[in-house]
Amino acid sequence: MARLGDWVQPHPTGIYLPAADVWIDPSVPVPRALVTHGHADHARGGHGEVWATPETLQIMEVRYGPQTGRPVAYGESLTLGDIDVSFVPAGHVLGSAQIVLDHRGERVVVSGDYKRREDPTCARFEPVKCDVFVTEATFGLPVFRHPETHDEMDKLLATLRANPDRCVLVGAYALGKAQRVIRELRVMGFDDPIYIHGALQRLCDLYIDNGVDLGDLRPAMGVAKGELMGRVVVAPPSALNDRWSRRLPEPISAMASGWMTVRQRARQKNIELPIILSDHADWDELTATIQELSPREVWVTHGREDALVHWCAMRQIKARALDLVGFEDEDD
Ligand SMILES: [Zn+2]
Ligand SMILES: [Zn+2]
Repeated sequence: MARLGDWVQPHPTGIYLPAADVWIDPSVPVPRALVTHGHADHARGGHGEVWATPETLQIMEVRYGPQTGRPVAYGESLTLGDIDVSFVPAGHVLGSAQIVLDHRGERVVVSGDYKRREDPTCARFEPVKCDVFVTEATFGLPVFRHPETHDEMDKLLATLRANPDRCVLVGAYALGKAQRVIRELRVMGFDDPIYIHGALQRLCDLYIDNGVDLGDLRPAMGVAKGELMGRVVVAPPSALNDRWSRRLPEPISAMASGWMTVRQRARQKNIELPIILSDHADWDELTATIQELSPREVWVTHGREDALVHWCAMRQIKARALDLVGFEDEDD
């Protein structure tokens, strides 16, 4: 008898479906790719053809220029070769999708990157029962438990109010995190203008075009120091310690990332105000998701796979690490 899911082939450069001659999130250019979401380590440039959600295709066009794309809406089903394919929300960033594959009476779900908690900038993760669940494990250690979003945003606002002569400079990954920080502040009722680094403009515009209200957003470039006192400024993490930030009034450097649970990381990057805000599932979300889906097998794509594989083994769930290459965990 054929092995469960053997029509889905993990290779170091991505997951390959021979029956459809298509790759999922390949790290090298291929003739035809299915792409889960727009982060650079999943969505590479240079593919012949890209099948992805309309939002992911737009993100790839901002980053890589025009794509030969086939937009696939959430819930739309299509057939590639002998494989039925559909995209369902992954709750990670705008347009992020899990790819649901049905073939030979077996269902394999490739989740890409995902999280379970509320995110006002994208559709919520949709659990899909399956035989094989292919999961990430970016925060796949029991030490990673992300706190409540609301409490982290409160911390940011309290710091801002306590320092009217300074600004809070928030480092946030350009795709997803930056827009989420802004939107979460709006959800908290913060209506002041928020100033952004030029590198964030196009992706913020893309979110706004897709109906995510980011409120009063202004370029930080060319604004007088005085005007930026008591303000929130959002920039890519790389701008926190470079010359760009010198124009700001005594910036309090903050960083919005799941990695801010690791104090040493915050110290290394000279972060005064760590804000723990992650677009990935934490340990509890990873294990709760596996319990909810109760797949026959779990395959772990990238991250800290050992603890999760072990956790599955203890519960009689067959699990293995796929050892894919080219994924980074700095996108959070
Ligand atoms: Zn990602
Ligand atoms: Zn990733």
